[in-house]
Amino acid sequence: MLPPAATPTRRTRWVTKRSGGWQSPRVVAVGEIGLDFYRDLSPRERQVEVLRLQLETAAEVGKPVAVHCREAHQRLLPLLEEWSRRLGGRLSEGRPLGVLHYFSGDTGLAKC
Ligand SMILES: [Zn+2]
Repeated sequence: MLPPAATPTRRTRWVTKRSGGWQSPRVVAVGEIGLDFYRDLSPRERQVEVLRLQLETAAEVGKPVAVHCREAHQRLLPLLEEWSRRLGGRLSEGRPLGVLHYFSGDTGLAKC
């Protein structure tokens, strides 16, 4: 797990971990990842940068994502839409892309 508001130090560890272990059948998902603009524990653009890396990792290893989104829908949804479109809406072997957690938007936004 890597908290959404990852610090640069944690980001470095993420990149290191990226090279191994993710293919294990014991790893069922990549997460929790996402954006948290409520707590803003790290700069927003850094959060976006780390999220992009995490989404790419999930796609590479074919694992669904568990995404946290707090007061960051405007920034998160286009990223997820673009990622989903590139993957054709599914991971390898037809696996779902993942779940959205801590969603604080309304039902209209949820239907996007
Ligand atoms: Zn969360």
